[in-house]
Amino acid sequence: MSDCHDDEDIITVEDAVYEMDAQVEESIAILGASDSDNCTYSMGYMERQALFACKTCDLKSDAGICYACSLTCHHEHDLIELYTKRNIRCDCGNSKFNGFECSLIKNKDLLNEKNAYNHNYKGLYCICDRPYPDPEVEIEDEMIQCVACEDWYHSRHLGSLPPAEFHEMVCYLCVAKYNFLQYYYNDQVNTPDIDVVSVDKEKESKITDSHFSPSDILTNEEKQNKIKKNEEMCRLEKLKHQFGNLSNLYKNVSFYWNDGWRSSLCNCAMCLVTKSLSLVCKIFYVAFLQIRLSKRKM
Ligand SMILES: [Zn+2]
Ligand SMILES: [Zn+2]
Ligand SMILES: [Zn+2]
Ligand SMILES: [Zn+2]
Ligand SMILES: [Zn+2]
Ligand SMILES: [Zn+2]
Repeated sequence: MSDCHDDEDIITVEDAVYEMDAQVEESIAILGASDSDNCTYSMGYMERQALFACKTCDLKSDAGICYACSLTCHHEHDLIELYTKRNIRCDCGNSKFNGFECSLIKNKDLLNEKNAYNHNYKGLYCICDRPYPDPEVEIEDEMIQCVACEDWYHSRHLGSLPPAEFHEMVCYLCVAKYNFLQYYYNDQVNTPDIDVVSVDKEKESKITDSHFSPSDILTNEEKQNKIKKNEEMCRLEKLKHQFGNLSNLYKNVSFYWNDGWRSSLCNCAMCLVTKSLSLVCKIFYVAFLQIRLSKRKM
């Protein structure tokens, strides 16, 4: 927390690690930590990996195939590229495949009980539930992947059109689900060209402005002070207080984030503890370590 911006020393090893992690993260974003020789089954339900669905295999129901299996077991099959998906264990050759065996790993469990499949595994996308390309629609429209649910959407079906430049998108269905994001988005909209430096400076100036120190706590004012203290420590609480209720403003609106938006997310103990047990943490706080390191560089 506060030690993030108290450290003024630049540690070159950390810089190097940060740079390296950024590169690794970029390749993970594309291939989702997949490798071309080894089936990922033994690694279990992977946090994120590139996956495929097979239209050639005689499947009983939806199945996810890892990158290595797509190249070997399903070589020359008609595959649907699903890009990255979270928390899936490779299904290749299990009981869904009617006797077809995985050539990389035999004796897999009959089913991966924890796998959850969306319509992408059937070759369908977006709120409109259509294939891509869509033989019945002639409008040319780009498809954008939501970083939260990882489904793909026609830009015309996202409620709000994408700006000329953006880094990542969260669809309006996910915005409704993770509604804490609206405060950060409202802040981005009202602060163009936001970066980590300006965020931290803003944070610091507001803390000094409020003339609060722990010694001010009085028993009968404890509750009041606790709220005040939370706001000082937590960027999200501060934004909530600043903007009030935004639900009407961002109804059915998808969010388009600038580069580096994840580093604007509060990483105070309260935000991390309350979110650590949920999927939210994995999705949005995946770069937590990197965020800390990048803040230390300021
Ligand atoms: Zn596999
Ligand atoms: Zn196949
Ligand atoms: Zn296989
Ligand atoms: Zn659509
Ligand atoms: Zn989504
Ligand atoms: Zn917080």
